[in-house]
Amino acid sequence: MTFPPLREELRGIAPYGAPQLDVPYALNTNENPYGPSAACVADIAAAVAEAAAGLNRYPDREHLALREGLATYLSRDVAPGQAPIEAAQVWAANGSNEVMLQLLQAFGGPGRTVVSFAPTYSMYPEYARDTHSRFVAGRRADDFTLDLDAAVTLVEAERPSVVLLPSPNNPTGTALAPEAIGALCEAIGDDGLLVVDEAYGEFRRAGTPSALELLLTYRNLVVTRTMSKAFAGAGLRLGYLAADPAICDAIRVVRLPYHLSAVTQAVALAALAHTDELLGAVDALRAERDACVAWLREQGLHVADSDANFCLFGTFADRHAVWQRLLDEGVLVREVGPEGWLRVSIGTPAEMAAFRAAMMVVLEHPG
Ligand code: PMP
Repeated sequence: MTFPPLREELRGIAPYGAPQLDVPYALNTNENPYGPSAACVADIAAAVAEAAAGLNRYPDREHLALREGLATYLSRDVAPGQAPIEAAQVWAANGSNEVMLQLLQAFGGPGRTVVSFAPTYSMYPEYARDTHSRFVAGRRADDFTLDLDAAVTLVEAERPSVVLLPSPNNPTGTALAPEAIGALCEAIGDDGLLVVDEAYGEFRRAGTPSALELLLTYRNLVVTRTMSKAFAGAGLRLGYLAADPAICDAIRVVRLPYHLSAVTQAVALAALAHTDELLGAVDALRAERDACVAWLREQGLHVADSDANFCLFGTFADRHAVWQRLLDEGVLVREVGPEGWLRVSIGTPAEMAAFRAAMMVVLEHPG
């Protein structure tokens, strides 16, 4: 036996994560480039000070105040005339990564199958591996949209316990057609859950409904969100879901006790009180995204349609060489997705100008 005595199937596997490099322009992890205002920082600091005074006690295991705050926020996206979302329909954890892991701990597992559609978020197979679930990846169409007929056929053949579908999808930015959600929920039935991962949901195009509108229609639908992206809180580590209360209740069996620290709960609640400010840059980021897509296309590149705060562009015979040359110019993008493509996160106008300038250097002097 080699030391350390790691599980056989984990040997030699590199930990997931984008390079964390100290560069002038970090456009690689889909963060919001705009930080909180001084007023927001002051409110967060005050909330932390208050939480600190009670740190001898464990935090609220059920994080009820936070769930209420998140339910109020999510209720913005229910269909007109529909009942608001309630705290019992919400569950939160340390990033939507942890929410997703808890979902698979509770609803995946040995003998159970998790389905997704590639290219998609590369953590999905890892959640499946870590919960001993079988992972099956269907394929997306050439334009990265979901081929609904093929998806339903795969679901009927595999009878998955969980289907993971981001909308918009990472790394392609592709939104899920609203009719796909209902069709998949019906195909999955009561034997499984459809998890629509709306990590980038707030960046979707105006007029595109959130999957939250269908929550009351399909009890096997779970919608996940995060404060990491549009909400400008990547450092906070707060993800959450909305679903049938019975689903939230079931997750309590697998969550670690007191998984959300008193500090996390206090910071998230203080940030929620500044919702409109923190989301204030979303419209500008959307406009910057559309401009970035248009500019890359003008350069003769392929760019996937994006509803997110990033875009996938290519194709390059040697994408690693392009990634490196952009890095040499101080711009860090992400080498992810199908071979030949790169992903750039949408930053401030100054950051995007730096990206375009670096791309011009690469395109004018290829190789
Ligand atoms: N889902 C998708 C599609 C993502 O791209 C990400 C982050 N890159 C996450 C979930 C996880 O985000 P977090 O844990 O920060 O909430």
